[in-house]
Amino acid sequence: MGNGFQVQDRFAEGAQYIGGRLLPGTSGHHQEVVDPATGRTVYRYELAGTDDVDAAVAAAREAFPAWSGATPGERSGLLHRFAAVLDAQAADFAYAESLQCGKPVKLSTEFDVPGTVDNTSFFAGAARNLEGKSAGEYSGDHTSYVRREAIGVVGSIAPWNYPLQMAAWKILPAVAAGNTIVLKPAEITPLTSLMFAQAATEAGIPDGVINIVCGAGKVAGEHLVGHPDVVMTSFTGSTAVGKRVAEIAASTVTRLHLELGGKAPFLVFDDADLDAAVNGAVAGSLINTGQDCTAATRAYVQRPLYDAFVAGVAELMESVRLGDPFDPSTDLGPLISHAQRDRVAAFVERARAYATVVTGGEAPGGDLAAGAYYRPTLIKDAAQDSEIVNSEIFGPVLVVLPFDTDDEGIRLANDTPYGLAASAWTRDLYRANRATREIGAGCVWINDHIPIISEMPHGGYKASGFGKDMSSYSFDEYTQVKHVMYDNSAVARKDWHRTVFGDR
Ligand code: NAD
Repeated sequence: MGNGFQVQDRFAEGAQYIGGRLLPGTSGHHQEVVDPATGRTVYRYELAGTDDVDAAVAAAREAFPAWSGATPGERSGLLHRFAAVLDAQAADFAYAESLQCGKPVKLSTEFDVPGTVDNTSFFAGAARNLEGKSAGEYSGDHTSYVRREAIGVVGSIAPWNYPLQMAAWKILPAVAAGNTIVLKPAEITPLTSLMFAQAATEAGIPDGVINIVCGAGKVAGEHLVGHPDVVMTSFTGSTAVGKRVAEIAASTVTRLHLELGGKAPFLVFDDADLDAAVNGAVAGSLINTGQDCTAATRAYVQRPLYDAFVAGVAELMESVRLGDPFDPSTDLGPLISHAQRDRVAAFVERARAYATVVTGGEAPGGDLAAGAYYRPTLIKDAAQDSEIVNSEIFGPVLVVLPFDTDDEGIRLANDTPYGLAASAWTRDLYRANRATREIGAGCVWINDHIPIISEMPHGGYKASGFGKDMSSYSFDEYTQVKHVMYDNSAVARKDWHRTVFGDR
């Protein structure tokens, strides 16, 4: 772990990264970046206005012909160097990510940063493996083949919960495939997206390939999505904002990739390893202080294990150490902001009217009172149709409900508009296989909950969106396929012409 740096000095020129340079915004409105563990402002910058978005899109457009024309090997080589630069700066990235998000430094050091370096290495390799169908004489008289092509300038919008990883997930497949990009991070967490783009420049990725605009969603975000030179929008965030983005994209017929909210079920069958399920539920619901779109939020536990599960989860939650994110022994940091903490607390207060708070349900006092902290919270006795079971809370809150038959468990797991992730806990092969088939979600874990890997796709079903991040599947979003067809007959009047003029 490095000693960190003074953010105001590091980003003194501004928080817009356009054409390989940091620049100030021109909106006339300022934004503070606040350390949620202390409430202290660590950076103040001028937000991007529409002119800044125009400048970033112009830079990306200018960079596109050379970047898309580079060989896969050339792009791959630069991405490998990019991974090495990121790795060398790992301590600074972990520091900045923990500072702006309040993440425990052990999480940013062991998960966010190495995950990003690994993703960069993966796409460095994948850049050389863009595939299409093999060429062939499908009609008999022609040779057909497919060209997989970059599409142009991509506009991406990211949320605040994993700012570095979200920047990486958006930027890497886009540029590996030969596109150029303008990314708008969440305005409260701009730091590591800017550092990511700076590291790309340091690695030799040409100016204008990766641009960052830090601005308000309604101003910079909407202008980016509706920009006539942006050919695709890739959005990660809430389902509500995703719908607005889709409206704008529909009006300009812009290609769209949406990674939206989640409300992941955690389904425990009565033959499960109880200890594993208890540990998995606490880790899966509290990671990143529960601000994770795939976090375990609804535990359904088959009746014979229900009481022991509730007792085990409550006991383990109570042992989780809240504290200073920079203390290596801290397990749980604050929420992203005081506003988000109050929003989570309000969900729990409303739930008290119809459910039981088993543990948690309060903000800690003492040394942590100034931060946006909230205790790990377990809730039981809530009805399936209640708010706490149905809404995305995005905090350290797990709801647990019992079920009797396997059919009922699967039905309850699927009883949500969302479909991002789910897990099933069982030692029975047939139950596990049934859960993977019948649960409608983009990822189903068996006997674990949360792990992701660069080689496998991440993306939602239902109201959790469409399209995939990570893995080679993401190239389906960031490329377009062209059918190329050569005539092989070399005759002027072809057989099919008789359907238009004359007979043979
Ligand atoms: P959010 O939807 O409020 O904001 C996301 C981004 O959209 C931000 O950059 C914001 O500035 C921008 N934005 C806001 N209004 C906009 C508008 N009108 N037009 C264009 N852009 C606009 O989400 P958040 O609160 O930052 O993040 C939490 C949400 O993100 C949760 O719902 C979570 O589930 C979701 N999320 C999903 C995934 C996934 O992979 N599916 C990953 C992480 C987070």
